[in-house]
Amino acid sequence: MSAPTARDIWTSALGSLQLEVTRNNYDTWLKSSLGLEATEDTFVIGVPNAFVAECLGKRMSPLITKTLKGLLDRDVSVSYKVYQEGAAGNGHRHENGAAAPIRTTTRARVADGHLNPRYTFETFVVGKSNQFAAAAAVAVADNPGQDHNPLVIHAGVGLGKTHLLHSIGHAVNARGLRCLYASAEQFTNDFVSALRDGGLEEFRNKYRDIDLLLIDDIQFIAGKEHSRESFFHTFNDLHTASKHIVITSDTRPKSIPLLEERLSSRLESGLRVDITPPNLETRMAILGNKADQANAHVDREIIEFISRKIAHNVRDLEAALNRIMAMASMTNQPITMDLATQAVTDAPSSTSRLRRRNPLDVIDTVAAYFGLSAEDLAAKTRRANITLARQVAAYLMREETSRSLADIGSYLGDRGHSTILRAHDKIVYELNVSTQLRRHVAEIRDTLERLPPRRT
Ligand code: ADP
Ligand code: MG
Repeated sequence: MSAPTARDIWTSALGSLQLEVTRNNYDTWLKSSLGLEATEDTFVIGVPNAFVAECLGKRMSPLITKTLKGLLDRDVSVSYKVYQEGAAGNGHRHENGAAAPIRTTTRARVADGHLNPRYTFETFVVGKSNQFAAAAAVAVADNPGQDHNPLVIHAGVGLGKTHLLHSIGHAVNARGLRCLYASAEQFTNDFVSALRDGGLEEFRNKYRDIDLLLIDDIQFIAGKEHSRESFFHTFNDLHTASKHIVITSDTRPKSIPLLEERLSSRLESGLRVDITPPNLETRMAILGNKADQANAHVDREIIEFISRKIAHNVRDLEAALNRIMAMASMTNQPITMDLATQAVTDAPSSTSRLRRRNPLDVIDTVAAYFGLSAEDLAAKTRRANITLARQVAAYLMREETSRSLADIGSYLGDRGHSTILRAHDKIVYELNVSTQLRRHVAEIRDTLERLPPRRT
């Protein structure tokens, strides 16, 4: 086997990073990156635009450097470069982002609606757990604007929602219809930038002048009143005009907190299909396909071994396979059962790693960052700087610990769960619009990252 290329190394780094950062962060900042160039002491990562480069540089560099060091066994200095994927691709070219990076992203996103070429119906393995969802998706792709409108696909993390949504997009695009894919987060960002830049007309046209709208992870919109309102109107306009809407959600719309009744009942008015975790047979079929797609030879026993070990989620299953393939390529070995055993035992599941912080660490770190004490955060005062620190603490505890809202409230002066949820959602919203807050939160996360584990 030849030495791993920058692409291989980065693919393997992504496998580890996926387990280290929250899913939103992974999807937003890392997913579309690729390894461009590796030398003895440098590593260049390709990113889709200047805004992503800036954010990765500011908030993830220590983690990225650490991950690469773990893989390469040497220190490398990391840089980011804007690349244009398949210049002939979708006809969209990124502007040169040097002058105004944030605006560039807005533009890029407006024209983007990027579909992953690997997520098609052909590569989607159908089993008991997803057959209704897959059948409904195919039916909509065949006859958009007809039955099952809206189609809501709901499932836990990593079970194929985005894959199915992109598959519909590819099928519909191939027939020359206009379809738009956006995560609910992107929808919100577009809306916020449109408000800020006076581009509401453009925003309206973008989301309404289409045959089919695919919105991923609608739960993200909960709690963001203006975006919800705007989505509700977009939804009604499209629905009235018999345009199709397909939405994914990690819970039933009815049980998403802060999704208004009128919107959730609209969403429940079409067809709702679940995807449940796949059984062993389906997991093995999925993994076998992924290995084939990567041109890797992996014995059936090894496929079965991994599929038995990682049962709950296809994304973790795939990450384990990527890790094994990368380890094999990096150490110049074939894929053996020994290697698989090692890779699978070394890789804790994304859920167990993500929610590992101690709430007291979060409180202490946030308080210290803002020059306050833990008692200040628990106090009754509403002084602006204390309120902000408290909201950030609530946000980080919700994102990074496994504590319930009520529990988090008890750390913050016995505040009720709805106060904590509002504080969390306020920060989620502000992170979309405030560069300064993004910097604060990234710096706090970096500090948390470096804390030694707390003895209990
Ligand atoms: P979700 O959006 O539900 O979190 P994704 O659609 O991102 O999950 O799926 C996670 C990974 O698992 C993707 O790489 C996807 O291709 C893969 N995957 C999930 N279900 C299937 C399936 N039935 N067949 C093939 N690949 C699948
Ligand atoms: Mg998804």
